[in-house]
Amino acid sequence: MHWLEMSLDAGLAQLPWSSLLHGMAEHLELSSRPQPRDPWRIRPSLVADPCPLSQAKKLMGHEAQPNFHVDSVRQGRPNGGTALNFMRGFTAEALVVTCLKATGYGRVLAHAPTYTVTVAPDLEAHPDVVVDEADGHGPVLVQIKNPNHGMFQRIKDGQTGGLQSHILQVALELYITRLAGQYLPEKAYLFYLTWESFPPDTTTASGLQTLVHPVYWTKEAEVLVMELIDNLRAIRENAARGVFPAPDPQSNPNKYPHSYCNFSRFGDGFVPACIDQEKWKSQAA
Ligand code: SF4
Repeated sequence: MHWLEMSLDAGLAQLPWSSLLHGMAEHLELSSRPQPRDPWRIRPSLVADPCPLSQAKKLMGHEAQPNFHVDSVRQGRPNGGTALNFMRGFTAEALVVTCLKATGYGRVLAHAPTYTVTVAPDLEAHPDVVVDEADGHGPVLVQIKNPNHGMFQRIKDGQTGGLQSHILQVALELYITRLAGQYLPEKAYLFYLTWESFPPDTTTASGLQTLVHPVYWTKEAEVLVMELIDNLRAIRENAARGVFPAPDPQSNPNKYPHSYCNFSRFGDGFVPACIDQEKWKSQAA
């Protein structure tokens, strides 16, 4: 078992509920504070977006609907399911950080949302946790992923491109963090956990469903990350001149990637279509 899994298991099994809840509440209070962001900055989360048009619109500061901000959106409208996924992720992060701090498997040096990195001059990272590893090696990044059980199984079985996208994201987190210079992590861990313990097919004694995937900082990773950054900068530069990428060719607006997108593929009532950039002109970044 990896020490991240041991920390979570020990924290959940041994800490009183009052301590767990208190630690999580403290972390969630930090997460609840407003975190203003400049949309034009390149962030690792952009790498997870499969559609260049959506990336361009986010970099231009386009809201799902022009001049109307809602935190959780899908297909151009406020969306409860998306909000629930965000709440699930925030709470998982709070649980992991609480267990790490309380159990001593590695020393927490910094964590989101208080630790953010802005460099060079348009890059921004939000590593979930920076930890001094228990074995005395240098600082490592820990990125917490909290998929639903179905997605977790597919990632575990290698049946989805989700892991590859997460590896690219975390490589960009590593690059930006290293560029800032305060910490020089050589490695990151993708730490997956779900909220469902003891699913019918469980094989673990604790019932916890977790997975740890290491990502190492290498020359190849650096080349890949530089390509990603160059590509996103080109997308942003073109969009600023009014030249946006073509929409994703999937024709069904209710299928991936359109179904998961902030924007609406063909428009819907007063919600404009994602390609109708004129509608967003007044709120350009
Ligand atoms: S709706 Fe589809 S084509 Fe439009 S930005 Fe989103 S993913 Fe891309």
